[in-house]
Amino acid sequence: MTVRCPLTDCHTKNAADADTCVRCGTPLRHLARLSAYPDHLFNRGLAAATAGDLGTARDLFAAVVHWCPLDVVARNALALASFQLDDHAAARVNWEAVLDRSPGDPLATEGLARLADH
Ligand SMILES: [Zn+2]
Repeated sequence: MTVRCPLTDCHTKNAADADTCVRCGTPLRHLARLSAYPDHLFNRGLAAATAGDLGTARDLFAAVVHWCPLDVVARNALALASFQLDDHAAARVNWEAVLDRSPGDPLATEGLARLADH
């Protein structure tokens, strides 16, 4: 994994654990932590869901989707947590967003079918 320097006239690839850009010296440590943050939130969301804390899981998955709106895995997880919390409107919006991004996605297709049964 590498971190790209954020300066537009640099964009040098650096090691993920680099403190500063090897070319221009821009601080990178904060940036690396930022890009790992959605994964961290997603894992916490999965842990909360496994522990049965669906409200927390839903909030964490929603945060991941906020950071990474095109992440269909996180959006499927958000939709499922919403469904399990009986928030069918949110479940539908997110499963439909998954299908927009990834037509035929089996989790979203099944989820919307389950919503139609309710
Ligand atoms: Zn740089």
